[in-house]
Amino acid sequence: MGVGIVFIVGAGPGPGDLITVRGLRALEKADVVIADELLPRSFFDDLDLRMTGVLVIRRDDRDPALSQDEVNDLLVQHALAEKTVVRLKGGDPGVFGRGWEEAERLSQQGIPWEIIPGLTAGTALPALAGLSLTHRGEARSVALATGRLREGELNVDLPRADSLVLYMSVSALEALVRRLVADGWPEQTPVAVIERGGLEWERHLRGALSEIAGIAQQARLQSPALIVVGEAARERVQRPTILFTGLDPANFRTLGTLLHWPALEIAEAPDAAEQVQDALDAARSAAALTVIFTSKMSARVFFAAAGGQWADLDLRSDLRIIAAGPGTAELLRRHCVGDVTIPDVPGSEGIIRLLGEAERGHCVLIQGEQASEALEQELTGRFDSITRLSLHRAVTHPQLGEMPLPEHDAIYLTSPSGVRAYHERFGMAAFERGVLCIGEPTRAALRTLGIDAKVVHPGVSDESSETQPTE
Ligand code: SAH
Repeated sequence: MGVGIVFIVGAGPGPGDLITVRGLRALEKADVVIADELLPRSFFDDLDLRMTGVLVIRRDDRDPALSQDEVNDLLVQHALAEKTVVRLKGGDPGVFGRGWEEAERLSQQGIPWEIIPGLTAGTALPALAGLSLTHRGEARSVALATGRLREGELNVDLPRADSLVLYMSVSALEALVRRLVADGWPEQTPVAVIERGGLEWERHLRGALSEIAGIAQQARLQSPALIVVGEAARERVQRPTILFTGLDPANFRTLGTLLHWPALEIAEAPDAAEQVQDALDAARSAAALTVIFTSKMSARVFFAAAGGQWADLDLRSDLRIIAAGPGTAELLRRHCVGDVTIPDVPGSEGIIRLLGEAERGHCVLIQGEQASEALEQELTGRFDSITRLSLHRAVTHPQLGEMPLPEHDAIYLTSPSGVRAYHERFGMAAFERGVLCIGEPTRAALRTLGIDAKVVHPGVSDESSETQPTE
C-alpha cells in the first residue's frame, strides 16, 4: 500500500494573501486540509482557491475542539489513506505553533512530510501596524516570548531585548506588566497592543507600560492579540490610521494604516444557482457571446453558484469576456477562464467604452442586486439579447456595532449603503474624524447627513460599479 504526504504549512497571521507561494502551491494540491482556529473563515475565499472536493476540517468546528493528539491522529489517518494532507497553521509552524510535534509523530509513522514556513504574527503584525521592531542605532535586538506557559501559568522568565514581543498574553497582561517592571523596564516604556491583527475588526491600543493593563481592560481586549514592548511600539513614520469600511482593503493600504471594519457583507441570492444555469442555457445557443463580470465579488459568487471550472460550463470558445478590473481578471484566471479583457477606465464607463455601438449576439451581464440599471440599459441597445444576473446583495454586516468604534484618524467609505449602515449603528459619532470616500455617489450619501467628505481614490479598483449602488 502507498502512503500520502503531509505539508505542515504556515499560513501567516490571518488574511489569506499573506501565505507564501510555496504554501499556496501545497494547498492547491491538497485532498484534505486541517486548519487552525486562528485562521479566519474567509481564508480560502480570500485566496479564491477552489476547494470543491477537498475535505476541510477546522479544529474549532468540533465540539469540544480537536486536541493536539486528535489532530496528529487525523494527519496520520489521512496520510495512510494515501491523501495529500495540508496542516494549515496560523503564522509560522515553528513559532509557538507545535508544528514540529506533528512532524515528529509523522516521522514515527514513516509518513513523508514537509514544513513550509509562514510569516509569524510577531514580526508581520507590527509591520502591518506601522511598527518597526529594529531600528539602526536604537533597537538592536528583538525577543519573541509567550506570556503564558503550557498549563496557563505566567512566564516569569521574560527575556531582555530592545523590543519585546509577547504572544498569548492577553489574560495575563496585568501580571506580565508587574513582572516587566520588576525586571527593570521603566514604567514609561511604550507598549502597543495589536488585537486581531490583519483581520476584520482589528484594533490597536497604545500606552505606557504602567497604563496598558488598564487600557486593555477598559477596551475589553480579547485574544488573539500581540503585545509589543519598547521603543518599537512607537510609529516610525507618522501616517493616518484609517477605518476602512469597504469589502476588500487590498487596493487601499497605501492610504495609511488600515483597520478593516466592514460596513457590509455579501449575501448570495437564494436562487443564484438557478439563475446561473438558466443564463448558461441561453448563452450556449447564442450566435455570438459576450460575458461581463462587473466585480470580483460577482465573479466569485458566479463560480460558487456554477459549481465548476470554466471548461465544464461548455460555452463556445470564441466568446468575449470582460472583467471590471485586474482583481476580477485574476480570479477568472484562477478558474481557468481564457482571454479576459480589462477596460482602461474603472467602472461601467470603461466597460461601455470597450464595446462598439452595435454588437452582435447575446450578452450575459453579471452584477450584484443593488447595482444600478444604467449599465444594463446601455447594453440593451447594443446587443441582440441580454441576460442580467443578480447573484448577490450587500447587507449590513451583522457584527457592525457590536464593539465601539476603534481609535482612528479618518473613516473611508465605499458605498451609500455603507454610509447608512455606519450611521444606523453608530450615529454621527462615526463621522467625527476625517471622512474620505471612493466616489461621487458615496459623497452624495454623506452630504445628506450634512457631512463634507473628500473623494480619495488610491488606484485601480474592482468594486467601483457595485460597491456604490445607487438604490
Ligand atoms: N504560530 C503562530 C502563533 C500561535 S500562538 C505564529 O507564528 O504567529 C497564538 C498567539 O499568536 C496569539 O495568542 C497571539 O498572541 C498571536 N497571534 C496570532 N495571530 C494573531 C493575530 N491575527 N492578531 C494578533 N495576535 C495574533
